[in-house]
Amino acid sequence: MNFEFTAPQRVIFGPGAIQQVGALAAGFGRRALVVTGRDIERAAPVLEQLRAQGVAATVFSVAGEPTVAGVGQGAAQAVRIAAELVVACGGGSPLDAAKAIAALATNGGQPLDYMEVVGRGQPLAKPSLPLIAIPTTAGTGSEVTRNAVLTSPEHGVKASMRSFSMVPRIAVVDPELTYGLPPAVTASTGLDALTQLVEPYVCNRTNPLVDALCREGLGRVARSLRRAWSHGRDAAAREDMALASLFGGFALANAGLGAVHGFSGVIGGMFRAPHGAVCAALLPHVMAVNRRALQERAPDSPLAARYEEVARLLTGNPAASAEEGVAWVARLAQDLKVPSLAACGVKAEHVPLIVERAAVASGTKANPIELTRAELAEILRRAI
Ligand SMILES: [Zn+2]
Repeated sequence: MNFEFTAPQRVIFGPGAIQQVGALAAGFGRRALVVTGRDIERAAPVLEQLRAQGVAATVFSVAGEPTVAGVGQGAAQAVRIAAELVVACGGGSPLDAAKAIAALATNGGQPLDYMEVVGRGQPLAKPSLPLIAIPTTAGTGSEVTRNAVLTSPEHGVKASMRSFSMVPRIAVVDPELTYGLPPAVTASTGLDALTQLVEPYVCNRTNPLVDALCREGLGRVARSLRRAWSHGRDAAAREDMALASLFGGFALANAGLGAVHGFSGVIGGMFRAPHGAVCAALLPHVMAVNRRALQERAPDSPLAARYEEVARLLTGNPAASAEEGVAWVARLAQDLKVPSLAACGVKAEHVPLIVERAAVASGTKANPIELTRAELAEILRRAI
């Protein structure tokens, strides 16, 4: 057995953890670029912390998912203010943007110089600016991963910048920051967390450390996502989901994902659709088709039995079948009123193009078994 595990230097978890951000930031320097989402108010507690510690803050707002042009502007601003550190506060989009900005600020150049698939894929030679990542949703796990998903509107696709040097230096995960999330955001981000625990657990690069995190995280999603959605201020449920998101981030960064994320990257580049909603629509169908393909073409693979394990962790029934796990996931997405792919604009006529792109997407490579174009098309048609 060979594996490696990458994580931030420090992970600080717990209600009220945000109170430590000022002192942590002051340890890196006196000038910070604060990257946040559309709603700048969300960063107010962070700005207050920085002010109290005498750290000058310049806010850079990322409206929507980060684009190649947007992170280029953010990096230019970091250079202009001679930022000594970057603090990211928000959902997966600002966190990913901040990882790219912190890397570009020291390495120079443009995102496309370093991006996979659509770019030139150059390595990042210099360390990034130190980054403190503070998630305000419980979904992406971006605070502990080493890639930034960027949209390139001219290519109509999403692709990553990826480097060990892009792992945030410190992740501060404070579940209290998620108490005010509206139910729709709790649902889509929570279902992303669920997907990011299922896919690494059944992927072709899994390892025992990731397995342990996935099992633990799946149990927490199973018992708490519905509650966090219906009772946003339930501290125990929010804590479970913050942990599940964190564990999903560790899992995807240190194992891999699968066809759900292969598809969701492509669909997210073509349509305006919440990432978690796209994942939720695809997950049950990818689970079902993957398991059938494993039974047909790799009956001895130890991964096939993992679909039963997922079902047992999710349903709480030690005798649950893989099919019951698939049904549990489908019912959860329905109960949480997640919009369908059709509602996001995906139609049957888009299937061939999406399948072609998803078949070569980086997310698809760790899928437990290589799926045929016919199987990918079957999944997509069922998910629409
Ligand atoms: Zn995801």
